[in-house]
Amino acid sequence: MILSPPRAHHEASRLEALRKLNLLDTPPSESFDRITRMAAQVFNLPIAAVSLTDSNRQWFKSRVGVEHDSIPRFQAPCGQVADESEMLVVPDLLDDDHYRDSLLAGSGVRFYAGAPLITTDGYCLGAMCVLGTEPRGITEAEREALRDMAAMVMGQIELRHAIGRVDPLSGLPNRNQFIDDFKDMAADCPHGKQRLAALVNLASPEQLSNALRAMGPSYLDEIMGEGVRMLNASIGQHSTVYHISPTEFVFVAPPGTDAVEFCVEMENWLRRRAASVTSRFVTSARIGVAIFRVGVTPHADLLRNLHSAVQHGADQDCGVSMFSEEQDAVYRRRFWLVNEFGAALDSAVPGREGQLRLVFQPKIDLASGACIGAEALLRWTHPQAGPVSPGEFIPLIERTSMLRATTNWVLESAMVQLAQWRAQGLGMELAVNVSAVNLLEPDFCIRLLDGLHRHGLPASSLALEITESALMENPKMAEATLCALAAAGVRLAIDDFGTGYSSLAYLQSLPVQVVKIDQGFVRGIEADERKRSLVSAMIKLAHDLGHRVVAEGVETDDVASLLEAAGCDQAQGYLYARPMPPDAFVQWLDERPLDVLALV
Ligand code: C2E
Ligand code: MG
Ligand code: MG
Repeated sequence: MILSPPRAHHEASRLEALRKLNLLDTPPSESFDRITRMAAQVFNLPIAAVSLTDSNRQWFKSRVGVEHDSIPRFQAPCGQVADESEMLVVPDLLDDDHYRDSLLAGSGVRFYAGAPLITTDGYCLGAMCVLGTEPRGITEAEREALRDMAAMVMGQIELRHAIGRVDPLSGLPNRNQFIDDFKDMAADCPHGKQRLAALVNLASPEQLSNALRAMGPSYLDEIMGEGVRMLNASIGQHSTVYHISPTEFVFVAPPGTDAVEFCVEMENWLRRRAASVTSRFVTSARIGVAIFRVGVTPHADLLRNLHSAVQHGADQDCGVSMFSEEQDAVYRRRFWLVNEFGAALDSAVPGREGQLRLVFQPKIDLASGACIGAEALLRWTHPQAGPVSPGEFIPLIERTSMLRATTNWVLESAMVQLAQWRAQGLGMELAVNVSAVNLLEPDFCIRLLDGLHRHGLPASSLALEITESALMENPKMAEATLCALAAAGVRLAIDDFGTGYSSLAYLQSLPVQVVKIDQGFVRGIEADERKRSLVSAMIKLAHDLGHRVVAEGVETDDVASLLEAAGCDQAQGYLYARPMPPDAFVQWLDERPLDVLALV
């Protein structure tokens, strides 16, 4: 059929309206099927359908008694309904000049009645139709019923597109719609069949908040606009793209897509995007890919797996990352640990043993062999899972707001213990580990000095250990706190020295008195000439800068002797003692009479 210009224009707008609804080629849906079944029943006819008129086909969103999901538009009565926006009744197709030779009539259909599906904007999308294999009339009541059912279909379509189904910014179906469509997919696809889904995240939460702060909210719209255009241009051609959160989009790959090829395709997409969009300087998009089983994998599991894959990609700094069970187990454990640690912290009372407690490892003066202090180390025993190493949970806590309360608890408990020991005549320096993030708290120094005052402790009885790598991440910010602490007389040590790529010039400017050489450099020096020279050079360098040197992880006499020969001041390690609970620590000291004298 050749359309005249105004009608051609109308047809283009009508098709655009239809496509915007994201209905074409979507899986069957119970909410439409219910209406179609009712239509067949009301008319007592074998065939009923919700038929949408695409450019050259009638596509059935819902159908009863028809096998195909589409038929050619040409000579289809539903196409006439769409063209004329009027109800069409053909009592007998064989009696009708226009439809006598149509495909429908050829397949045995005699009766047709279709009511137009009209949007609130006035576009006719297709027809709610009933068909029979015998010629038939239609009563006024039946006409009314068909119109009502068409209105019900439209209600459903518009409901889907209304608030709660469509993201207002991008116009794409949202998370709710994804969940519905995902469930409906089971009706259209063999049960248990494997399919691939992808989640595209256009910006990380930090990037988003930085961009918002620097450029304002309209910039976010711009980033999203660019992303949506690119997604629609490539992915939107074969899959529905869902906008599930401000920066995230999900889609399901076409059936039969190969996982490896798909990941490569996604990598290419990211590369093309990075080369073309203006937001590339402030955002880095990532894609998570996961396999799911139709009708078996719950939507919540798929979304969680996709998020897990994106998160893993962010940690590994790769653009596309495939969900893996092993990685997921690691992330789940981390999440669980953070939650459980929160509960442990809530119930922890400083100085009283609960899930959290402190253990103490002596520091030995290498020249005299005397114990000159101890390091307090945090221990967490989970009621079911047992002991969890600080090497595992501290890095996780450091990324949360719980860090402040954790360090408070450790400091307070250490001070309670120090005060107790001093009252018993054991005056020593106790070192506590703090995170570099703590040094960014504006009141950290005041709180710490207040604690010392409350417990009647001199500032010199407390030392703080801060890991070198953490210190280097934000050196200038931490410097003010470090200077204030040093000025108050609190001793400061750089922990794990040698692992953080410090600038020597910077090291010299820090008000630090002690450098603790990381265990990695110390372990095995007896058998490794190069390691020995390296440790000697580190000791010399630290001494030249005016620092005292402590070696960590000393496990054998040989290592202790070599360190002493290299000029190292103090040592800590299993050779002398493992970290011990307070009572065991005092007993250990008691068994070394010289030390007790040295400490009083
Ligand atoms: P770190 O401060 O460098 O502590 C030294 C670690 O080496 C401790 O592990 C200690 O038990 C272990 N160690 C001591 N001597 C030896 C030895 O001879 N051989 C071997 N193989 N290991 C030895 P731990 O207690 O598991 O603590 C690990 C890390 O967790 C600490 O490293 C510290 O960075 C962090 N950490 C521990 N407690 C706290 C805390 O209260 N707050 C903060 N922020 N971090 C803490
Ligand atoms: Mg330490
Ligand atoms: Mg260390």
